[in-house]
Amino acid sequence: MIARLRILGVAFFISLSTFGQTVSDYFEKIRNNDALLTAFFAQMPKGGDLHHHYSGSIYTETYIDYVVSNNYFIDRKTLKVSEKKPPGDDWADFSTLKQEGTFAEYRQKLFQKWSVKDYNHVDYPSDKLFFETFAGFGVASRAEIDKGLLEIKNRAKKENVSYIETLFVNAPCPKDLTDLTDFARKLRDGQAKKDTAACLVLLDSLYTAIQAKNVRECANTFLNETLNRLHTSLKIDDDQFTMRYQSYVVRTVEPVELFKAMIVAFEAAASSPLVVGVNIAAPEDNEIAMSDYWLHMLMFRYCHAKYPSVKYTLHAGELALGMVKPEDLSWHINSAIYLAGANRIGHGVDMPYETDCYDLLRYMSRKKIAVEINLFSNEFILKIKDDKHPISLYQAFNVPIVISSDDAGVLRTNLTEQYVLLAKRYKQISYQDIKQYVFNSIDYSFIEEERLKKSLLNDLKQRFAKFERSVPGVRH
Ligand SMILES: [Zn+2]
Repeated sequence: MIARLRILGVAFFISLSTFGQTVSDYFEKIRNNDALLTAFFAQMPKGGDLHHHYSGSIYTETYIDYVVSNNYFIDRKTLKVSEKKPPGDDWADFSTLKQEGTFAEYRQKLFQKWSVKDYNHVDYPSDKLFFETFAGFGVASRAEIDKGLLEIKNRAKKENVSYIETLFVNAPCPKDLTDLTDFARKLRDGQAKKDTAACLVLLDSLYTAIQAKNVRECANTFLNETLNRLHTSLKIDDDQFTMRYQSYVVRTVEPVELFKAMIVAFEAAASSPLVVGVNIAAPEDNEIAMSDYWLHMLMFRYCHAKYPSVKYTLHAGELALGMVKPEDLSWHINSAIYLAGANRIGHGVDMPYETDCYDLLRYMSRKKIAVEINLFSNEFILKIKDDKHPISLYQAFNVPIVISSDDAGVLRTNLTEQYVLLAKRYKQISYQDIKQYVFNSIDYSFIEEERLKKSLLNDLKQRFAKFERSVPGVRH
């Protein structure tokens, strides 16, 4: 009897304590529990995903389906996949693998080669595996872009994501620049002396020479024949979802080629409201990426003067101690902000090592330069997680934060999981802070149409009201 009364008492106490609780109260109660947090964040509206790579966001299943249905060839030893059969005895087409009963085995191997599935953190460097996946599935990711865009859109809608700003396929521009290769040597000489004025004069001559080859045509062809056509015909935008695109350059190529790609990227962004910004991607510790980093930042500064309305976000400080010399952890975010004039930065993981990082953080806060935080990506590629991650530093200095997914397909994750990691790992970040990060993801997006931005913000408010009404035990 006494035991029964006690149980009734506990039940009464629980019901009293939940009566009148707020969403924040409920959130604090569940923040140590993965499954409860997952249920919470899966339903919470997440606004925009602003750091999102198109090809890295598609799941491997889609790529495998494509190469199988087109009966491509696979090298049994290296697992390279090719449309046509290259010379050598190790190549077999997928129908042969099915006939001989080995397809399931190769399918599993492709999962491990094209994504982080089954990765054991022992056999192979994680950053190498991650960046090599793109070359592996490139043969499939360049095809069937329509299916890829729809996959991303449909997954986003199911996850309560209303906006994506994706780093999309680059505009091809096969213009011959061999007569301009001498510029590379001169630019690197200028870089060695950190001679900003001389390099800007060189870039101006190079810009004129490249434009004389009519590279604008590359941007226009890509916009008309690929992007605008797909975006419209697939009806990507609807009343619950909007997609915009970033064009980008790859930081591992020679300076003249990179500058051409940057001009094409800025041209595309300047002439289409669908292309809302420019980015720079690829491994930041690559040899060329490291040696030409300063030059790349100067190129952005130059392009900003030519295309003042075009916004850009730069992957900067995606580095960890041990990957590069310690002194090289001290200046990439500084240069992306002060020299290149980035509107947002991606990752920003080496912030604690940056020279005068307090001043840099204050500057980012004052100028409203947001940082795109990619928690699982940083954990996998850089082995930076928990309190090694500088998110608390950004929060302490009131730098605008957005939470993003980076490459959910390769990393076998989603945006929901990023919020779960955020809540579990950083207890000083409240529900109200997280809600602010979600609103930031629309506020700090590069959407050009003001009306669209406003309507996405209004929609987000309504979604939050509905979501908060659904949270268990919350007073209404
Ligand atoms: Zn990225």
